[in-house]
Amino acid sequence: MGENTTLLCVPLISHNVEDMLVQMNRAKASGADLVEIRLDHLEAFRPSEDLQRLLSDRPLPALVTYRPKWEGGEYEGDDHTRLDVLRLAMEMGADYIDVELQVPIIGLVMRERGWISRILCPKFGGYLTFGTLEAGKESAPGQLTMKELLNVYNIRQIGRDTKVYGIIGNPVGHSKGPILHNEAFTSVGLNAVYVPFLVDNLREFLHVYSSPDFSGFSCTIPHKEAAVECCDEVDPVAKSIGAVNTIVRRKSDGKLVGYNTDYQGAISAIEDGMRGSYGATDKIGSPLAGKLFVVIGAGGAGKALAFGAKGKGARIVIANRSYDRAKALASLVGGEAISLGDLESFHPDEGMILANSTSIGMHPNIDETPISKQALKSYSVVFDAVYTPKVTRLLTEAEEVGATVVSGLEMFIRQAMGQFELFTGLRAPEKVMREAVMRNI
Ligand code: NAP
Repeated sequence: MGENTTLLCVPLISHNVEDMLVQMNRAKASGADLVEIRLDHLEAFRPSEDLQRLLSDRPLPALVTYRPKWEGGEYEGDDHTRLDVLRLAMEMGADYIDVELQVPIIGLVMRERGWISRILCPKFGGYLTFGTLEAGKESAPGQLTMKELLNVYNIRQIGRDTKVYGIIGNPVGHSKGPILHNEAFTSVGLNAVYVPFLVDNLREFLHVYSSPDFSGFSCTIPHKEAAVECCDEVDPVAKSIGAVNTIVRRKSDGKLVGYNTDYQGAISAIEDGMRGSYGATDKIGSPLAGKLFVVIGAGGAGKALAFGAKGKGARIVIANRSYDRAKALASLVGGEAISLGDLESFHPDEGMILANSTSIGMHPNIDETPISKQALKSYSVVFDAVYTPKVTRLLTEAEEVGATVVSGLEMFIRQAMGQFELFTGLRAPEKVMREAVMRNI
């Protein structure tokens, strides 16, 4: 049997203090652990004198209750006076105070999972939220800094009507999405906020957060595949990639529609890199058409790159650590699979394009690279999905052997711009988003 910590409490409902004191002693004799002093039943109640007598002569710990009419009690006066009396009881040493749930509540959830409760406090009428002066000065786990609350989440602008967007992931704390999207929302004057959602089970999350005010979500590891199944409708390309990174709640019927902006972001970045200028206007025909496009990796980003390049008319080769996954993806896109070992001597064609979609070379393992510098000589264009650091060892060596290089940062910015446009129906504020990324990555 577990430990029984339940206390037995006797309610004292009397019209005068003397009678209440008598009842208190009877309660003690009956074996009670504490008494409830119902101040609202006392006639001609004199707060200081009566509380003084009741509390100083008490034979048992006391819970002090001053129940208003609106909660089923007898007190009919104003709430300020009532709460002042309860405060006085606390100062006089009452063991417990009964405060009705309708009196302002401060409800905050701890740790990373509770970030949304701290940020969305003003939307749901929360009485206060905590912000620390600096990171490391938290008095409870999960508190954000004042700077984050004010400058990243624009908490002063959040109100009842604010639309909520956010990134669903696990982990999610590292995401730069909130910085990027909140700056973009502010720059176009949208009443919206973008928050981090630490989520274990995507389906349950979407079921609970089904209000129209939760208007759109970005999806990251490990939920991109599950998102395909959880959406009511999925864009055909996202469906063939098997990954959704953007979910939009359609205004007309509330249905969840899934998209993949990773592939558009990566492919347009590579195309523009090949054309020689980002944002080039001459976009007639893709420079990828007919080219041999080698993808290292067969995960979410690898699939996006392979399907995206295939859609532009490239011939696809997949090289992956797990050869079976390389074969599976190659057969899906109608391409060829090779092992990572084979990649070193793979040069069937001139002017090949290489796209790394593994995490090799990502911070902190910045000295790693998926292919030797010697083998890079066979490629005219090299893209790296990794964007921390901004310039990976792969890109440095590719540039040294004369290849055109395209950074994963460009993909990151573009996939976020695509999400903004799907969320809002507005043109993404490119300059604002680029500057936000450059300042923060
Ligand atoms: P994922 O689905 O988990 O796939 C990871 C891939 O990397 C798999 O093919 C895996 O091979 C391979 N891999 C992992 N560690 C490896 C190692 N040590 N040696 C060889 N291969 C290894 O992940 P993802 O979502 O595709 O993301 C992959 C990378 O792309 C990450 O670095 C991510 O940050 C980046 N990314 C960037 C952007 C952007 O906007 N720039 C967007 C999405 C992703 P196996 O199949 O053998 O496990």
